[in-house]
Amino acid sequence: MERLSISIADYPKPGVVFRDLTPVFADGPAFRRVVHALVEQFEGRFDAVAGVGARGFLLAAAAAYATGTGVVTVRKKGKLPRKVLSEEYALEYGTDMLELHAEDLQPGSRVLVLDDVLATGGTLAAAARLFERAGARVAGVGVVMELAGLGGRAALEGRETRALLQV
Ligand code: IMP
Repeated sequence: MERLSISIADYPKPGVVFRDLTPVFADGPAFRRVVHALVEQFEGRFDAVAGVGARGFLLAAAAAYATGTGVVTVRKKGKLPRKVLSEEYALEYGTDMLELHAEDLQPGSRVLVLDDVLATGGTLAAAARLFERAGARVAGVGVVMELAGLGGRAALEGRETRALLQV
């Protein structure tokens, strides 16, 4: 799988090495393995799968379909048309906002939250807070790749977190 990811220097800005996982998604057998590996540890312990951001949606939809559960989207500010819960999170410079249609979830739902990459953990921690404020439980967090050393694990402390690959 690591073989399929591509490191892009100076993207999206100078000094940053961006890990591009789209080749993993484009490879049928690899994508299937990734989705199964992300859900197997949590099997039977979640009722819905949430994706964060565009690449998280791909993983969440496939994982939900594979396990017969629902899929929920956590969106950037302003994308959802009905009443939302909002959570701010820190970026390197400034802040951003994630939003959720809390009413889409059954009270007490157990949610598995997926994304492609865990870096500082700000994004997934904010998503987890949204689900808890919505009255759901976070069954776990799954990512394809963890950029170790950026503090993501600490931001998700106390949450069962599965990273298929650490770099
Ligand atoms: P964090 O909030 O710092 O953990 O950043 C994670 C979010 O930014 C996720 O939604 C990722 O999709 C995205 N992200 C951060 N770094 C990378 C990268 O190197 N490759 C792909 N996505 C990244």
